[in-house]
Amino acid sequence: MQIIHADIVYSENSKQLAVHRDSYVAVEGGRVKYIWSEVPEEYSSVPVTDHGSDVLIPAFSDLHVHAPQYPNRGFGTDLLLEDWLEQITFPMEARYADPEFAKLAYDAFVDHLIAEGTMHACVYGTVHTEATSYLIERMDKKGIKGFAGKIGMDRSAREDLLESPEKALRETEAFLEKYSGNRNTKPILTPRFAPTCTGELINGLGRLGKKYNTGMQTHLVESLWEAEQARLLFPECSCDIEIYERAGLMDNGPVIGGHFIFPSEDDIHIMQKYDCYAAHCPDATVSVIAGIMPAGALLDRGIRIGLGTDISAGHHVGVYTQVGRAVQLSKLKNFYEPDGNNTISFPEAFWMATKQSGQLFGDTGSLEPGAVFDALVIKDLSDAAVKLTPEQKVERFCYAGTKEDIAARYMDGEEIPDGTDD
Ligand SMILES: [Zn+2]
Repeated sequence: MQIIHADIVYSENSKQLAVHRDSYVAVEGGRVKYIWSEVPEEYSSVPVTDHGSDVLIPAFSDLHVHAPQYPNRGFGTDLLLEDWLEQITFPMEARYADPEFAKLAYDAFVDHLIAEGTMHACVYGTVHTEATSYLIERMDKKGIKGFAGKIGMDRSAREDLLESPEKALRETEAFLEKYSGNRNTKPILTPRFAPTCTGELINGLGRLGKKYNTGMQTHLVESLWEAEQARLLFPECSCDIEIYERAGLMDNGPVIGGHFIFPSEDDIHIMQKYDCYAAHCPDATVSVIAGIMPAGALLDRGIRIGLGTDISAGHHVGVYTQVGRAVQLSKLKNFYEPDGNNTISFPEAFWMATKQSGQLFGDTGSLEPGAVFDALVIKDLSDAAVKLTPEQKVERFCYAGTKEDIAARYMDGEEIPDGTDD
């Protein structure tokens, strides 16, 4: 057993933070065992790691991130989705045909995730099997719990990023066979989105999903252009998600739909039916996508929502930056498009990025007894003149912090380096 002292904050539920000021967490077997305000006499011989007035929080989960676009972060985002894909994204993704390039980029990406406090993630690769194999091996080795997928794409992109459906399905199946037994990072089916996939590919992925009991990540109603393209290319379907439902992709494991900004009633019903996750990516929303998820209204309807960085439509690798941004966007949504309850609170946004999304990766995203101890120690960002409460320390970090404000990282109960060591 080990005991850690700090202020302790995690989500009690979607509306409320659990706050243990100046308290102790006892960790055993990689999980939280107890939280105490004083160490009981019988444990007085166990050494205590003292983080003083710093605050201990759960590590973050990124539900939507494109590893190959990591070298593109922070530019090109004055374009809109269709042009951005052609001019910025696809030229970069084509470079992953070179395994040496992929290794350099993916090593840096995985290290950066951990440095920013992200220990759980749903990650997109490219169509390249060798590069995506390196990515999932690297994530698994570094202990990142989550999913990584070889992208499925067989139309409407540049030639060197397209595969025939036969090759895509054959190599995807080999990828599933090879990595389904991974300890931390599992494979996931990853049709990019409906406009870049034929029915043959999507239906084939549905068969693989059934055979290997594998879930799916994709982009869902992310822009009006994407939703319109999906309807044109799959006229037999009444909405974007029905394309995947008809292919049998919805009930083989977790389904994570990126963005979910312009859902129809049919889209919402299918999301509810299969208990899917929507990945809300605020930075991407104000950059290349140009639409705001009705997050408050969707939460009211029971849709599960986590946060994503969507590198590189979003530009910042730390999910914590998206917590504050999600609150800001909900207020803009309410001002410009008032339509029911759309504002969300800071505790709700923090819950999305930790406890709610952590359920995808096992018992993570919380510090309540029984939870896997994936956690961060955030420096006390109080001013000399004004001391912050524990919950204010967390809020300030999410709005104004950087990775340098993360004083320590714990994964499965063990303290780990900042991500840059092997
Ligand atoms: Zn995306």
